[in-house]
Amino acid sequence: MFRIDEIPSMPACKDCFHYTPLTREEGECRIIGKTEADRDKDRCPSRTFRPRS
Ligand code: SF4
Repeated sequence: MFRIDEIPSMPACKDCFHYTPLTREEGECRIIGKTEADRDKDRCPSRTFRPRS
């Protein structure tokens, strides 16, 4: 049984190497431009999610 704060969240734009935050909710992707921080990596329009190392 997981506690709610232990459930791993799906990687999103905010976890991507190409992402620079502008506000808490949105930021700039160096490939597609403006994007949402919480956009699921599977919804990346350019399919270029790359985790920050
Ligand atoms: S490359 Fe895709 S996943 Fe990464 S910040 Fe840009 S839109 Fe988001």
